[in-house]
Amino acid sequence: MPVPFRQFIVKVNSRCNLACTYCYMYFAADQGWRRQPVAASPRMLRHTARRIGEHAAAHRLPAVSVVLHGGEPLLTDPEVLGGFVRQVRERVPPGCAVRATLQTNGVLLTEEKLHALAAHGIAVGLSLDGGLARHNAQRVDHAGRPAWDGIRRAARLLAEPRHRAAYSGVLCVVDPATDPVELYESLLLLDPPGVEFILPHGNWTSPPPGLTGGDPAASAGRPTPYGDWLCAVFDRWWHDDRRRVGVRLFRECVALLLGLPGAVETLGLQAFTAVVVETDGGIEQVDALKTAYPGAAATGLDVFSHPFDAALGHPGIAARQAGRDALAPACRRCALVEVCGAGHYAHRYRAGHGFANPSVYCADLQRLIYHVAGALRTVASDRAASGAAP
Ligand code: SF4
Repeated sequence: MPVPFRQFIVKVNSRCNLACTYCYMYFAADQGWRRQPVAASPRMLRHTARRIGEHAAAHRLPAVSVVLHGGEPLLTDPEVLGGFVRQVRERVPPGCAVRATLQTNGVLLTEEKLHALAAHGIAVGLSLDGGLARHNAQRVDHAGRPAWDGIRRAARLLAEPRHRAAYSGVLCVVDPATDPVELYESLLLLDPPGVEFILPHGNWTSPPPGLTGGDPAASAGRPTPYGDWLCAVFDRWWHDDRRRVGVRLFRECVALLLGLPGAVETLGLQAFTAVVVETDGGIEQVDALKTAYPGAAATGLDVFSHPFDAALGHPGIAARQAGRDALAPACRRCALVEVCGAGHYAHRYRAGHGFANPSVYCADLQRLIYHVAGALRTVASDRAASGAAP
């Protein structure tokens, strides 16, 4: 039975003011962005709002999430973005909450834009590579100039008490070449309400930096640079910060190990419920799939002619809602499958073998999950030794 979409990632602008050297959007296998209109048209935004409202009503959704994305969404006037969110709120049925966020590189964020976004109830998430200039050396504009000064200005603005309610957190791609604890502490200096770590996109054919691709069956015993990095940050978070800083990946891992339902696409077996609308109105799967092969994210559907329900029947989306049944035999047999879930769907791809493979991060995910499980066991045994309730 298909699970309705709950998160709508709307590309309001297909271009970016930065040209980060590792960006999968512009330097990956899929160059489809070149065919996209630069900005979403009023007609596209109107139809998207209508389709979201229709989907929320058909499935009696109590809440939906709208993520304003790009490219760089702040290349679009915040009043246009606010007008779109207002249309969505008008279109969903009474009682359906709309949480709106905008994910930005921060360089174009100003006090005025932040006020305009906040007035429309749009929270802001900041994408960066760490809290120091040298962490962000690969974040450059099209002339190769560093973006750090603009990023730092945005982070300071968001952390000011008067804007804090509109600050949704920071998103950071893991780079194992950095010092994990130093990087994590540099993020804490930006005072974000939450931290989201994501692994660089890659797969068995185009492996992430520092990993080898090829045959998953021949990858036993490989190094775990990403798992090691995450374990080091986890230890710092677990012992010092876990009650005051939300690091989503770690909280999700702990929840899944405790048998609670998961809520991210990178861990667990829960159905994936996000969908993308491109600037031309095309309905697509998430961008990360574009790292696999050209057209991997496409569904052939668009908001002008198709309801979101039509996308629920797309084989790629159905596979991401099929849980354990859609996984490789090795994953179905794996002791960690309930927690790992074979990781992010895009990271399983291998040319000629599709997506039914373990994650290219299999060894790194095992390293992290066993490490987090060990921390939970230590807490349980400490409590048992002290006579406290588990
Ligand atoms: S740890 Fe590896 S084998 Fe186990 S579910 Fe995850 S990707 Fe699959």
